[in-house]
Amino acid sequence: MKYTVLGKSGLKVSELCFGALPMGPLQANIPIKDGAKIIRKGLDSGINFLDTAQVYKTYPYIKEALAGFPGDVVIASKSHATSYKEMRNAVFEACQKMGRDYIDIFHFHAPRGDKNVFQQRAGALACLVDLKREGIIRAIGISTHAIEAVEKAAEMEEIDIVFPIINMVGMGIIGGTAEDMFEAIKKVHRVGKGVYAMKVLAGGYLIKRIEEAISFVRNREEIQSIALGMVNLRELSINLRIFRNQKIDQAELIKEEFPRKRLFVSGFCEGCGTCIKACPNQALSLQEGRAAVDYSRCLTCGYCVPHCPIFALRIV
Ligand code: SF4
Ligand code: SF4
Repeated sequence: MKYTVLGKSGLKVSELCFGALPMGPLQANIPIKDGAKIIRKGLDSGINFLDTAQVYKTYPYIKEALAGFPGDVVIASKSHATSYKEMRNAVFEACQKMGRDYIDIFHFHAPRGDKNVFQQRAGALACLVDLKREGIIRAIGISTHAIEAVEKAAEMEEIDIVFPIINMVGMGIIGGTAEDMFEAIKKVHRVGKGVYAMKVLAGGYLIKRIEEAISFVRNREEIQSIALGMVNLRELSINLRIFRNQKIDQAELIKEEFPRKRLFVSGFCEGCGTCIKACPNQALSLQEGRAAVDYSRCLTCGYCVPHCPIFALRIV
């Protein structure tokens, strides 16, 4: 496993970052003890970088995985908070629920945020600056799908780390192509910010081309790590082998137990439309009085799931 420092942050991370979103209630919803075992196996295998978020509700998995672990682990979390107080609460919630005195990286969770995102959330930014000064967080970041937010981050002295979406089919990227996003990423890299990538498998769409999809993003000087969600030991094993430059048997990737997950809309949907605004990828619409999913846009992130008041959405 290769380790690299994220920009000027001083945080040395494994090239493979363990994404905690898919094991939690927004997606697979596996029991905490099972998820914790998979994370712990990842840590024991050399991964030292975990990515989570306030909305993922996966802090308990991480807390259990870290119990008694002797090594240093870099944790990134994020919040949609806009005000100073909301952001302060979000950071202390992360500390408390993961049993840590500090969080290494705390992001603006802003999948659809545009170039005005830092201005619109000025209170939250001021809070993160103060918490960094107090040693409660070590670096400030932004997690985004939008090219213009990445470009804006390059101009923001306060931002240390950028966590952009990037994949070979350009799925989910707002404001341009994958190459346009790479150009924006180069800008933030040039000014010394750390970068790690999300959704390189386009929400599972590229799972059968996993090696090609990861190679597309890997080994670029401007990207130090890649976050991949994992919900079982098989996925962990495949990802570890790729990042150890070992060969993967293609037959493994097409086995039945490694299917692409999908967003499912139950027949109970009442067509209230609440979920549509929650989707960062404009993959939902109302059709004939029910929510309909455009699977060519859906990244199976699960962000829409908790917004349905009658629990009609599920990732299956
Ligand atoms: S429809 Fe839901 S799961 Fe699909 S991209 Fe949008 S928020 Fe994510
Ligand atoms: S929020 Fe739930 S009930 Fe409302 S449209 Fe979406 S799936 Fe249907």
